[in-house]
Amino acid sequence: MPADPGLFWLVFAGTLAVGWAATVGYAAYRRRRRIRRRERHLEGLRYLLDDQPDRALEVFLGLAALDDETIDTHFALGTLYRRRGEVERAIRVHQHIVDRPGIPPRYRDAARMELGRDYVRAGLYDRAETIFLQLAEAGVEAGPALAYLVRIHELQHDWPQAAEAYERLRKVGLPEQPIAIAHFYCEMAETALAEGNLETARGHLRRAHEEQRDFGRSAILRGDLARRQGDPRLALQLYRLVVKRDFHLLPVVMPKLVEAARQAEDPEAFGATLEELLQSGKASRSEIAYAAIVSGYYDDPAILECVREWILADNDLKDITGALLPPGHGPSPEQLRAVAAAMRNVVLRHARYRCAECGLDSSTFLWQCPGCKSWETLRAIAALEFLPRAARPRSPQ
Ligand SMILES: [Zn+2]
Repeated sequence: MPADPGLFWLVFAGTLAVGWAATVGYAAYRRRRRIRRRERHLEGLRYLLDDQPDRALEVFLGLAALDDETIDTHFALGTLYRRRGEVERAIRVHQHIVDRPGIPPRYRDAARMELGRDYVRAGLYDRAETIFLQLAEAGVEAGPALAYLVRIHELQHDWPQAAEAYERLRKVGLPEQPIAIAHFYCEMAETALAEGNLETARGHLRRAHEEQRDFGRSAILRGDLARRQGDPRLALQLYRLVVKRDFHLLPVVMPKLVEAARQAEDPEAFGATLEELLQSGKASRSEIAYAAIVSGYYDDPAILECVREWILADNDLKDITGALLPPGHGPSPEQLRAVAAAMRNVVLRHARYRCAECGLDSSTFLWQCPGCKSWETLRAIAALEFLPRAARPRSPQ
């Protein structure tokens, strides 16, 4: 029997109508969902603006789906929490993005990177290390991930691992502090020296020297090694080289220099080194005297002469000491020693070193600033500060 054309068109029209109704219905459903999501999103933002971070967090984490707009808000929210020190909340937000099924890989990787930063901030270094290692292995943001790995190992004073991460970082990008790896080897050398492993120390110092020529720290350590191996003359040469090249290291090197001169039975060496510094214009007598007082080694005739010059050059010191001496008389060596001891007491009551990068004060010399983590930025504070920092008048901005 031939098909009834009327029935055919009826079925066709019916199918179209059902299809159309389904499409319209689904579109309306999607629109309602989008509107509801948008309302929840705005509600979350309102909680955030009302400083109700917990309620905001619950709303955002409860959103049924993440689109481009809400995902940006999630990232902004996570960063905001971390900056405010609310690291647990930041972790929840970033973990939520990572765990979301069907999330585009670029968002998931970015969220893992942020999660790693959260863990660093929270001091959960093991977890951060795992994430950054995975990202570096996958070649995702390998440079920043490896830079974080270097930082994590530095924070944990795991110098061999720090050196390894640094080597990998160097292959994919420019490390922030090119000098850092030489310090890692010096740290390893210091540990080996302390444990009496002199050959191991020598190996690390060789690597430090390969990384950084004319490097004060490795020269000082090579001097220490030479003294341990019974060669104080070589130590003297190295220490002299350091202070001539890096005068700011004089407070660190001075006691070692004196000891090496004594071991080498060369009592003139110390005075001769100071004379070289003066003749070459690298330092003034006042600067040498100050460095000696900071280092604690000032009871030496050559230093006391520098102290005498310092008193004459500094108006405050001249007034104070002049008031105690008969007119026309300079201080005797005993009086110079007493003045130097008094100045040492003033120095000991204050921070002796300050970071040139972040301004952090420290009472001891450190190769790495504990504040900003920069290497070799601590310098002896350039002048005596008679008042504690809090009592000093603020300098105009
Ligand atoms: Zn600093």
